[in-house]
Amino acid sequence: MATLYCHRDPDALTLTTEVVAASPGRVRLADSPFFPGGGGQLPDRGVLRHAGGEIQIAGFAQEADGLWHLLAEPVELSAGPVEAFVDADFRRLMSELHTDMHIVNALVYQSFDGALVTGAQMNHDGTGRIDFDLPEADNDRLRALEGPINDAIRQDFCVRATYVDETVVRTEPGLIRSRSVAPPPSDDGTIRVVEIVGLDRQACGGTHLVSTGASRQLKILKIENKGRHNRRLRVGLDGMA
Ligand SMILES: [Zn+2]
Repeated sequence: MATLYCHRDPDALTLTTEVVAASPGRVRLADSPFFPGGGGQLPDRGVLRHAGGEIQIAGFAQEADGLWHLLAEPVELSAGPVEAFVDADFRRLMSELHTDMHIVNALVYQSFDGALVTGAQMNHDGTGRIDFDLPEADNDRLRALEGPINDAIRQDFCVRATYVDETVVRTEPGLIRSRSVAPPPSDDGTIRVVEIVGLDRQACGGTHLVSTGASRQLKILKIENKGRHNRRLRVGLDGMA
């Protein structure tokens, strides 16, 4: 899998690029600054400005020949230059929730004997959920993590991504936190590992803040039992939930 432009240059929210393939209502671009969604993170929102005007992006489809951008109207864009604009506020919200999910994940992993994630979802309203394989956990102990989660936000740990050889990622304990899915390797056989320096390292393909202190405080809204094994933590950003 080719590396995403938003991994190489996460700050590039505006990009001049080119339409390389088009059919009514969809285009492929030479380079795309958009995060197409995945790992519980919603896809970026944004627009394309082209010779005939501006059009909203409605979604993405990853296909064998590359990433298709689905357009909000069934127009067929002609080949040639376009400007792509990522919705900066939405990207920031997703990066904030995603960074906080790593903190929650790290503290549950450390406090509950390496418990793995079974699912996660981040929402446009500043809330999210993260599910863990935690058959025996005491919900009060989980609820008590809210303080340490917010301490980790306040400590303003640096967040950075590195590329680690796939065999190392698959053998070093703790780098893959999801019970069912691991991110696909890049074409060079490496997997992206996101590190909250001093707190946590895990394979991840999403977007994140540059340091934890850029996040608002996080509230644990609810803890639910989902079946015999799964525990669901519902969380929300302070001021939004
Ligand atoms: Zn992540």
